[in-house]
Amino acid sequence: MQYRVEGIVIRSMDYGEGNKIITLLTNTHGKIGIVVRGAKKVKSRHGSLAQLFTHGEYLFFRNSGLGTLTHGEIIESHHLLREQLDKTAYSSYAAELVDRALQEEDAGQFIYEQLKACLAAFSEGKDLPVTLALFEMKILVAAGYAPDFNACISCGNEGGSMALSVRGGGILCGRCRYKDSTAIELSEGAFKLLRLFRQLDMRRLGSIAVKEETKQQLKHIMRSLMDTHLGLQLKSRSFLDQMDRYSL
Ligand SMILES: [Zn+2]
Repeated sequence: MQYRVEGIVIRSMDYGEGNKIITLLTNTHGKIGIVVRGAKKVKSRHGSLAQLFTHGEYLFFRNSGLGTLTHGEIIESHHLLREQLDKTAYSSYAAELVDRALQEEDAGQFIYEQLKACLAAFSEGKDLPVTLALFEMKILVAAGYAPDFNACISCGNEGGSMALSVRGGGILCGRCRYKDSTAIELSEGAFKLLRLFRQLDMRRLGSIAVKEETKQQLKHIMRSLMDTHLGLQLKSRSFLDQMDRYSL
């Protein structure tokens, strides 16, 4: 059967002599694996369609299992994301997250739109760590693990300083803080940003100025949330960390 989908390449790997297998996140069919024959040949018409981060329209044939590409058109090649090392590192992590963190039923149109906007933001030069933290929050939303930042999860109190109980899935007020000894104290800046990110659609991300220490706290918090709830070992994250270390 023939399919036509709009999708973004979230994984691309060599397969046999000159071929590639790509995984697409699509706007209508979740994640799909497609064989791109001859993708590695220099003159291949389909080579660029098989590159990581490419956003395009894909026509493929499938009976069961993997599809086979018959035709495609590039909508956005995102070549900057493959050429600039810091952008490559961030984009690879975002793509691998979608590939690994989401079950088939969670990879719907919502996360498709969020990934599309995330890659566009990286490409346009928006702040990389801030954009990534927002995207991680969207992954947690899609996977059903996003914390509740509206009120204390224990007593409902909405005022005062708060601490995040990663395991409890929400915030604890000063009075209830003792209920989770591992809760992370939130600075006012981090708390505001987390609340905003919980609600914000990636497509509406403008340019926000975030203080360096708030960025560090944000990174620490998103890491704790991802590790506790998803527990993934991602190659792209080691790459990202290595790059961050060298650029200091
Ligand atoms: Zn409380």
